[in-house]
Amino acid sequence: REYAEISLKDIDQVAKSSFPLCMRHLFDKLKEDHHLKHGGRMQLGLFLKGVGLNLEDALAFWRAEFSKKVGLEKFEKDYSYNIRHNYGKEGKRTDYTPYSCQKIISSTPGAGDQHGCPYRHFSEENLRAALSRMGVNSRAMEDVMDKVRNRHYQLACTLTFEALHGMTCDAGINHPNQYFSDSQKILQP
Ligand code: SF4
Repeated sequence: REYAEISLKDIDQVAKSSFPLCMRHLFDKLKEDHHLKHGGRMQLGLFLKGVGLNLEDALAFWRAEFSKKVGLEKFEKDYSYNIRHNYGKEGKRTDYTPYSCQKIISSTPGAGDQHGCPYRHFSEENLRAALSRMGVNSRAMEDVMDKVRNRHYQLACTLTFEALHGMTCDAGINHPNQYFSDSQKILQP
């Protein structure tokens, strides 16, 4: 069975069940603000491409949110090019690859940016709140926070995965798209 495919109608549900926190945060912020700055659009957009959202669905997804904020015309003029570009349909036709954990963790989000790795870039208070919204119980939370304090961000993410799926993840998390596919293998065997 092939896991690397999602369609637009399933996206809300799989975002809840199988997106790692970095992508869940971007997804929720996009729905809330109907906007994301460039770094967030790249991080989430390439991840969605990696989980198998095709270009047509990707355009529909971003258009639905951005048009609520900037209007349809501005979306088509200023934003749709970059989405097609990410899929290698514009410019140099480079096929951009989804970001790894290492790349996301070492990014430097500025004011108003939503991209990055929450384990690294959130305040302790915001991280605890986000984990609790995800459904991490208080016991697992302390183990996660312990890893964060020791700057083991990917291990913190691995513990979150294990707490939410009730299973060990021996390989550890090293890529958001791996988090997604490992989750789908458990939830939809
Ligand atoms: Fe995302 Fe990786 Fe950070 Fe997990 S460890 S939240 S998958 S960047």
